[in-house]
Amino acid sequence: MNTETCIFCKIAHHEIPADLVYEDDHFVAFLDINPVKKGHTLIIPKDHYRWIQDLPDDRLSEAFILAKKMIKAIKSAFACQFTQLVVEGNEVPHFHISIVPGYEGQLNATFFHEAYAVNESKEYVEKVKRALESGF
Ligand SMILES: [Zn+2]
Repeated sequence: MNTETCIFCKIAHHEIPADLVYEDDHFVAFLDINPVKKGHTLIIPKDHYRWIQDLPDDRLSEAFILAKKMIKAIKSAFACQFTQLVVEGNEVPHFHISIVPGYEGQLNATFFHEAYAVNESKEYVEKVKRALESGF
């Protein structure tokens, strides 16, 4: 995947249409074409990065400050009680923050969940701690 074939790059550069709700020098936000809930909004950087760890720190900070602003707008726009965020780069391999309006008493999508075996979670805790201590 490169910027010439990336659908989100094309949206960011107005090469294909999308329901844009926001734009500045570094980001666009638009409605997800297949929303979990109506009003489901995606924030993407105009530059192509796949994963959260690929963004420079200052750009990543801007992304989440923008997410806060968008959350306030979405809450106001759709009279929802809260929003749920997912940071993604998988289905479309271009970093995006997905903001889904949330309503008390309503479930969003049904997700598959894994379950830890007894004490298995402790192994995962230790693995993360070791990674943090090693400095990666
Ligand atoms: Zn892209």
